[in-house]
Amino acid sequence: MGKTRLGNSRFKVGEVLAVESAYSSITFQDAFVHCHECLDLCYNPIPCDKCTQTLYCKDKAFSYHQYECPIFFSLSSSIVDVVRRVVLKTVLVARNEWNNWDADSDRPDEEYRSDRFKEISNLLTHADSRSKDDLLAETSVACQFYYLLKNHTRFLKGGINEDRLKEILLIMVLISKTNIVDINKLSPDLKMETIGNAIYSFCNLFNHSCWPNVRKYFHGNTIVLRAINAIKKGEQCFVNYGLNYANSPLGFRQQIFMTIHFFICTCRPCQENWSTLSEMQSFFSLAIQNRLMSADMNQARNELQQVLRLAKIAEEKYPTGVTGHDHEIKNLLHKCFSIFGNRGQI
Ligand SMILES: [Zn+2]
Ligand SMILES: [Zn+2]
Ligand SMILES: [Zn+2]
Repeated sequence: MGKTRLGNSRFKVGEVLAVESAYSSITFQDAFVHCHECLDLCYNPIPCDKCTQTLYCKDKAFSYHQYECPIFFSLSSSIVDVVRRVVLKTVLVARNEWNNWDADSDRPDEEYRSDRFKEISNLLTHADSRSKDDLLAETSVACQFYYLLKNHTRFLKGGINEDRLKEILLIMVLISKTNIVDINKLSPDLKMETIGNAIYSFCNLFNHSCWPNVRKYFHGNTIVLRAINAIKKGEQCFVNYGLNYANSPLGFRQQIFMTIHFFICTCRPCQENWSTLSEMQSFFSLAIQNRLMSADMNQARNELQQVLRLAKIAEEKYPTGVTGHDHEIKNLLHKCFSIFGNRGQI
């Protein structure tokens, strides 16, 4: 715990904690109105000279693409999981950094830089926590990348250290499983759509909570982290890895976190087994709401006692305003008190 405690800072709701450009990113093929490089919206993109798979917002050649281009179609088929395309792009983009890497140049007091491959390659691989089958499957993905690069591109002709390439491909494949971030956009009908994937170094250092105090927002492939709760000095900052207590039951969340991220979540909702939103909604409202439909004043008084009891439970156990609990309780109170006020009669 404690990976990201932002020192002496204190953040108000909505305040920006961090802004980070993607080290590398890819777009999904159906996201054709987004630039392949920066993911900005682009309605008149310029395609690569040699393939129709990559579209750019600027007429600019990206040197890594000469190696990606000949194998792009293979990568887009079912050979490798689409999210793993970020692995290949990262390895290509960073080729000068890992190929000429000098371990002796490491200094403990070195400045952290999120635009550097070294920081990316230091993200967790979880190699020790994985099963042999998992490691074998991941190695097979790295081998497929290596095979494609060696046999269908000129990548190895450019003075590339082949053993180092194999090592880096495997490291990146392992890192990718837990560190690839979905890039989202809001559709015109206000639904969240995933348009691509990216890898970041700093923003991947944040721990998960099922009740996070920080959320991710995307501008192209730049990630912006904002506080969604007030965060006190020294308080730990948490993001959410995809499942929260309001939308998924505890058992399911724990199973997914262990399988994909190799940890047991010990956040407050997990420790206290907070109810999901749908459980709370049905718990609070359905039965009482039905009874209130035809209640007279005496019945409403009895129901009010029940609603007040529930409000007390919610106040103690569930932070009001964070989910719909607060709204549900207020709704029921409003119905009870309305019955005590003016009422038309037939
Ligand atoms: Zn662009
Ligand atoms: Zn191309
Ligand atoms: Zn949790």
